[in-house]
Amino acid sequence: LSKVAIVGRPNVGKSTLFNRLVGRRLALVDDEPGVTRDRREGEARLGDLRFVAVDTPGLEEAPEKALEGRMRRQTEKAIAESAVCLFVIDARAGLTPLDETFADLIRRQGKPAIVLANKAEGTAGEAGAVEAWSLGMGEPIAFSAEHGRGMDELYAALEPLLAAAEGDDETLADEEEGWDDPLKPLRIAVVGRPNAGKSTLVNRVLGEERVLAGPEAGITRDAVSVEWTWRGPDRDWPVKLYDTAGLRRKAKVVSKLEKLSVADALRAIRFAEVVALLLDAGQPFEKQDLQIADLVLREGRALVIAVNKWDLVEDKDARARDIRAEAERLLPQAPGVPIVFLSALTGRNIDRLMPAVVKVYVDWNARVKTPDLNEWLRAATERHPPPAVSGRRIRIKYIAQVKTRPPTFVAHCTRADELPASYRRYLVNGIREAFDIPAVPIRLMLKKPE
Ligand code: GDP
Repeated sequence: LSKVAIVGRPNVGKSTLFNRLVGRRLALVDDEPGVTRDRREGEARLGDLRFVAVDTPGLEEAPEKALEGRMRRQTEKAIAESAVCLFVIDARAGLTPLDETFADLIRRQGKPAIVLANKAEGTAGEAGAVEAWSLGMGEPIAFSAEHGRGMDELYAALEPLLAAAEGDDETLADEEEGWDDPLKPLRIAVVGRPNAGKSTLVNRVLGEERVLAGPEAGITRDAVSVEWTWRGPDRDWPVKLYDTAGLRRKAKVVSKLEKLSVADALRAIRFAEVVALLLDAGQPFEKQDLQIADLVLREGRALVIAVNKWDLVEDKDARARDIRAEAERLLPQAPGVPIVFLSALTGRNIDRLMPAVVKVYVDWNARVKTPDLNEWLRAATERHPPPAVSGRRIRIKYIAQVKTRPPTFVAHCTRADELPASYRRYLVNGIREAFDIPAVPIRLMLKKPE
């Protein structure tokens, strides 16, 4: 069960809310000698929602100064452990500086919060509820813990946040299994235009000393793939390579015309986790190369660019600079995509290909913790707030990673359909930088809070 922390200054009605949510099902009283109440937890129900409600102490409840730090730490710990915070204010009293202090504790940890403007019986406290907008924690709910007002709105606000928190963990847990399993082969495809040097490259890689070719760990080839083990610096990587060359050998029987159709490339891309796009240093970034690169990224695969026939290039430094600049310009979807300049024919820099492949593979499996993401989100939206549409500001309330391979994020956002593409790019690039996930495709989905 997810935890939901009830946070707020003293006397705003936290305990009343706690009792209302937990009822008589109080499961656990967490108190230690010398402290009357550090925090209480109990299994709560709200409609069909089940969660653990955690009541936190208000700082002023600390009997003496020395305990204040401890109380604060307890509150911070409760917030850290919770999926969602219910931030309670007293709507009749309006916002006080102490409310701001508590709001800060929540914001600092980037937890999604629902603001409950409590004691709003009848029309009392409506002004306070409106005032609570200024906390920047989303739409406050005019609430009465004592009379049960606002429970349905609380349900509506809490349900998607709990679902996100839970779905989030489940999805990631499922996928986590085995991604760095030393027995699970890393699937790679080498794609590129005809004559880029694909078969030469594959043969060169297979002939390399870092490829284990002992009796047990030898190279096996079937119609579609070649399997071998690459001896990396930290560990061995079993590899399954999509064998375009093998396919072509068969096709050759039928026709001497060698064409890598987009359909062939697509098949290879779908097979692969990491795609190495092989370019000819003489004509890099032809239209077909860009089409394939775009396809790789749209299919959500990790991309490495290998620039072949580097032995024929004269001013290598200048050429490398140009090609890097071109890549950044032509493939803005994959900033920082690894580029390896090599010669399949002479073997030059061949040993740089697999490390680049493994690096993007690891990034492709990147996982970012929800609190870190939300801390980043808060800073990013503060630095550069989402635009206002027809007078109302779009609010991005919460973000979580729901998938890896490629990293996929869901942001809960008011008027999600109206968020401009430029702002979405700002967010994606921000995630890349903040969490060091260059090059691999990153998906960001926007979801309206229900
Ligand atoms: P594929 O169609 O992409 O599989 O390309 P191939 O591997 O058949 O190579 C096409 C031609 O390019 C052959 O004549 C290769 O010898 C040549 N080639 C491949 N790699 C290199 C390289 O690194 N340097 C040079 N100079 N030629 C290469």
